[in-house]
Amino acid sequence: MRADSRFIDEIKTTESFNATACMNCGVCTAICPMGLDLLPRQLFRYVVIGVEKKVLENQETIYSCLMCKMCEQNCPAGVEIAENVRTLRGYINRKVFRLSGN
Ligand code: SF4
Ligand code: SF4
Repeated sequence: MRADSRFIDEIKTTESFNATACMNCGVCTAICPMGLDLLPRQLFRYVVIGVEKKVLENQETIYSCLMCKMCEQNCPAGVEIAENVRTLRGYINRKVFRLSGN
């Protein structure tokens, strides 16, 4: 698995991405109605350390999020989870589907 510190800069070119405050507590996973274990804990971490492959491999999970913000409202670290998911979708749209918007 290849890590590239430039990945997060590429993601942040046109969007904000806030995940470094995550302390991996698991509250978001416990509360998510979709049972999304990957989001946000693991997937956001992959972005922070620069593993693009994992983001591209998990498109289905990224698009399964309801954007309901139940996780975000209970996150003790104030991570803007839904906005981060939107950012990841925007990146996939640009990178994979060659779309310019979110
Ligand atoms: S609830 Fe917040 S701090 Fe806890 S794992 Fe989820 S994103 Fe990280
Ligand atoms: S915003 Fe997405 S990750 Fe968060 S609780 Fe809702 S479905 Fe789950």
